[in-house]
Amino acid sequence: MKFADLHLHTFFSDGTFTPEELVLRAQKAGLACIALTDHDSVEGCERAAAACTNVQMDFIAGAELTAEHEDTEVHILGYFLDTKNPVLLKRIAEFQSVRHNRITEMVAALNKLGIPLKAEAVFALANCKSPGRPHVARALVKEKLIDNLDEAFERYLKKGRPAWVPKTKMSALESVELIHQAGGLAVMAHPGLNRTDDIIPALVKAGLDGIECFHTKHSTVMAERYLEIAEKYNLLVTGGSDCHGFSKKQPLIGTVRLPYDHVEKLKAKVAERKSETTDKHR
Ligand code: AMP
Ligand code: ZN
Ligand code: FE
Ligand code: FE
Repeated sequence: MKFADLHLHTFFSDGTFTPEELVLRAQKAGLACIALTDHDSVEGCERAAAACTNVQMDFIAGAELTAEHEDTEVHILGYFLDTKNPVLLKRIAEFQSVRHNRITEMVAALNKLGIPLKAEAVFALANCKSPGRPHVARALVKEKLIDNLDEAFERYLKKGRPAWVPKTKMSALESVELIHQAGGLAVMAHPGLNRTDDIIPALVKAGLDGIECFHTKHSTVMAERYLEIAEKYNLLVTGGSDCHGFSKKQPLIGTVRLPYDHVEKLKAKVAERKSETTDKHR
């Protein structure tokens, strides 16, 4: 049987692996297909695609967009994206700039607490266009200002803690539209983690294509619940480990394994969408 892991991060956002390392590890984990879903970035997709071609692995170009709907944060995964789509790239660049400013604000908040972290230390460690809280946590550990990553989140960075800075996000409805106009499928990420059940109907109405039923932080009961929801709303089913390399306790790639027939269904939907668009333009 073939399996896929459709939720993975590289050092183009807050993961620690290069695209090539990620593909190598996917191969070792016996995966037949992977999707790269960096936060607000598609930059690593070209390298990951090339590395996958080399080992004859199936690759899906994706991204994880940070969005919100009526004050609820929701992550929307885009799959089969045209990574050169100008509208997508423009919006991504805007949100990357928000992420940069937010790092500076988080560091300022830490400095106010008497923690002498420099923004340059975070940017040097992040060295990417899509920096986030895990980079701040890693910089704090590296500079020996805290013992470990968990403590950094617990004491300073998680919502409600003194160095937490809210992030301007795009609306979830826009994110679905943005993904669609870039030729992709829009999927709600880890609904059990963000507790976004209430907003599922609104997103379905806006054209949501799928829901991530299988995820590292989903229990079996949760996965079953989201499989039922998928059936109810006629949504495609996805799953992935949300591997961040060593930004989390351990690399998770391959620990969530999506049966490949779900990938086939995703592909069929993209093909169907493409033929609809071609027909419209005839
Ligand atoms: P950001 O996009 O900057 O808000 O950061 C989100 C990232 O931080 C995601 O990859 C989360 O998995 C990670 N994260 C959020 N909360 C925690 C936590 N308590 N401990 C470790 N990582 C976390
Ligand atoms: Zn992340
Ligand atoms: Fe997420
Ligand atoms: Fe993720």
